[in-house]
Amino acid sequence: MTADVTCRDGVELLMEYLEGVLPESQRQRIEAHVAGCPRCVAFVDSYRQTPRIVRSATAADLPDDVAASLRRFLTERR
Ligand SMILES: [Zn+2]
Repeated sequence: MTADVTCRDGVELLMEYLEGVLPESQRQRIEAHVAGCPRCVAFVDSYRQTPRIVRSATAADLPDDVAASLRRFLTERR
């Protein structure tokens, strides 16, 4: 993987990011990408709005601290 996160591996990493299983270094890269990528922001939004019964098959709940961290990061970049 290169230094830059693309949308393509971004979605994959986003899933892991939202599950809170990514190491800190990767989390920062994801946050940096999402901050400049409306598509990934939309993905995060839709993920969070997905009914629990649907997403429980593929992912754990979004940890509050991850959600807060991402929201704060996006707000600062806006
Ligand atoms: Zn993206």
